[in-house]
Amino acid sequence: MKIFVTGGAGYIGSHVVKALGREGHDLLVFDNLSTGHEWAVLYGQLIKGDLSNMTLLKKLMKEFNPEAVIHFAASIQVEESVREPLKYYEDNVCNTINLLKAMKLAKVRNFIYSSSAAVYGIPVNVPVDETADMKPINPYGATKAVVEQILKDMSAADDFRYIALRYFNVAGADTDGHIGQLYKNPTHLITRALKTAKGEFEKLSIYGTGYPTPDGTCIRDYIHVDDLARAHVQSLDHLMDTKKSDIMNCGYGHGFSVKEVVSTVKKVTGIDFPVEEAARRAGDPPALVACSDRLKAKTGWEPRHDDLEFIVKTAWKWEKDLTRKAYAA
Ligand code: UDP
Repeated sequence: MKIFVTGGAGYIGSHVVKALGREGHDLLVFDNLSTGHEWAVLYGQLIKGDLSNMTLLKKLMKEFNPEAVIHFAASIQVEESVREPLKYYEDNVCNTINLLKAMKLAKVRNFIYSSSAAVYGIPVNVPVDETADMKPINPYGATKAVVEQILKDMSAADDFRYIALRYFNVAGADTDGHIGQLYKNPTHLITRALKTAKGEFEKLSIYGTGYPTPDGTCIRDYIHVDDLARAHVQSLDHLMDTKKSDIMNCGYGHGFSVKEVVSTVKKVTGIDFPVEEAARRAGDPPALVACSDRLKAKTGWEPRHDDLEFIVKTAWKWEKDLTRKAYAA
């Protein structure tokens, strides 16, 4: 199938491109390479471009004429979104509207959307399921909720259908070791902890120890990026079969506190790196854990790497390989 993938050179996008490429799909990857990398695109054709460029989008959509679009390209940092909300509304909402307009013009009717657990805000029930209200507590989550509303309205109005995948905390690296996370300024916990173990950072800050959780630190549901990639492949198959819009959580159904993640990283790396207790980070909810029963029941998805140590091991291998590559370069 012909699939147009925005943000396919990024961390999650590149793992999904690999999973789709292996299945023999014909991929056009559209990425402005602001945080993505050319080397991460293992399948398909990469076109460097920005979603603000309507002319290019319309042209590509018409010429490539995909059956489906998977949309990863977005700004993703919660704290930055609190400081720079306009950037987030522009990148995540305006640019998605451009993409949807170009799709409408070219009569492309199938859409997989990268949404987020951040749409829930502070959920009343943990694990949270998709019937919970969207009450985001930061601009990042608000942009994802606005786009979900747009998609809902479009699918009611038009011959258009979508699946919004609400990601929980995506972590780890490709089990083959080919691709992984590489940001100029990484903010994610596991990556920062591993880089501290490597000596790239002096110490790891734990953002907040007074949350209403058993050890006072935030709880998150960490899902391996390869499991998330398969969730995309299976959701797309499901969408093409049923032609029905849906929303699905992607997580494992149990969480780990920041302190538990730090101990796991210390155990896996064998390095007792310095850790400090610091102030809370703006926009962080205390606990986010997914109920992913709907994803399992409707698409047949099952986790293969539901093991925090395994997740950290794959990310650690990737981090060490990055160091070797940097020395070799
Ligand atoms: N966190 C932390 N120190 C760090 C990075 C993150 O204590 O250096 C915490 C963060 O406050 C949150 C959790 O780890 O409670 C997961 O944060 P991350 O940025 O990995 O993902 P998010 O939940 O924001 O998507």
